[in-house]
Amino acid sequence: MTQEIELIVKPEFIRTYKEGYPLISKESIVSWDKIRQEGSVINLVDEKGKFILKGYHGVQNKGYGWALSANKDEKIDVTYFSEKIKSALKYRKDFYNDKSTTAFRVFNGEGDGIGGLTIDYFDGFYLLTWYSLGIYEFKSDILDGLKNSVKYKGIYQKKRFDSKGKYLDDDDDFICGDKAETPILVKENGINFAIYLDDGAMVGVFLDQRDVRKTIRDKYAKGKTVLNTFSYTGAFSVAAALGDSIKTTSVDLAKRSLTKTKEQFEINKIDVDSQDIIVEDVFNYFKYAVRKNLLFDLVILDPPSFARSKKHTFSASKDYVNLLKEAIKITNKGGIIVASTNSANFNMMNFSDFISKAFKELNGKYEIKERFSLPKDFRILDKFKEGNYLKVVFIKKIK
Ligand code: SAH
Repeated sequence: MTQEIELIVKPEFIRTYKEGYPLISKESIVSWDKIRQEGSVINLVDEKGKFILKGYHGVQNKGYGWALSANKDEKIDVTYFSEKIKSALKYRKDFYNDKSTTAFRVFNGEGDGIGGLTIDYFDGFYLLTWYSLGIYEFKSDILDGLKNSVKYKGIYQKKRFDSKGKYLDDDDDFICGDKAETPILVKENGINFAIYLDDGAMVGVFLDQRDVRKTIRDKYAKGKTVLNTFSYTGAFSVAAALGDSIKTTSVDLAKRSLTKTKEQFEINKIDVDSQDIIVEDVFNYFKYAVRKNLLFDLVILDPPSFARSKKHTFSASKDYVNLLKEAIKITNKGGIIVASTNSANFNMMNFSDFISKAFKELNGKYEIKERFSLPKDFRILDKFKEGNYLKVVFIKKIK
């Protein structure tokens, strides 16, 4: 085992850490000079050398490391990881028992006690995502901890720690056990999804939108025309179609979205030919829709936090108001806009302000019908509200 390294916390940060804030920031530490490599176990102490917390050093866009334990004598070994994983599994017991949902998050980073690591479950397969080289250094102990705790068909990984925090495609997503079919089929509240565990950064569906998809299917889709923008594999469109929408239109810039969306419809026995799947820049599509006087009953907005296309750079924190304005223009009176964002740069209050601003600038009126943040399996810490990045608002357009 590597030696643990003591780091002194600046006085003004001590209380925050004592109260359970898990993210170790660069500026809170007097000097990082003693650290030679990511993955070092660090003991934060005050200026008199009194222990505050144990953590590890790992560089992510959000910080220099994460807390692991408030116990000075804790050994960060297989037993430690097994216990964390077991308690995470216990928290998701209901998910394992639910036959209509076979894909969910098993371990959600700091929410389950270890920042920088997530584990997702896909019908017997486990997918580990490493968010820094630091946490990846514990791979062998974490894997043993997982293998000790679950029955698995196979285990996969995604490394998300190249210099920009992006996916590192080095062709070794498969770790052990059986290889998964391509794709494997999972269920979510009875909806089928095709999942590719070894095909780039994204596997086909974003599990954190489960409750939103169910709500669209069960409460908002029936008899409606639906526009799903930034549609990726069309998961929201599938939910709407299964909820008896009249027709869905899915728009995404990426060429892959066409085949992927068709596939999701097909495995749900939805007639693909009666749906529209359009490969185009959403902002062009909005212009086209205005020109053709197209109006929709339900418009879904789920852009990435940041995206660059040939003509546009979209940043959720700067451009969401404009995106909403485009959507409002092509939503029927009495229709619903589902506005979603996973940007951690602003909170629900800011997001509500964006909505209010967009309607105001168009002289419109609206009513908020419901709000969603992360679902139960995406466990978060009270002490780390920033971890709850998802914000989804169902807005009724009154005028
Ligand atoms: N709403 C999706 C997830 C969206 S992921 C779901 O529920 O599964 C973000 C998607 O936005 C990606 O598929 C990406 O190709 C697409 N995208 C990014 N910029 C775009 C643009 N300007 N126009 C259309 N699609 C865009």
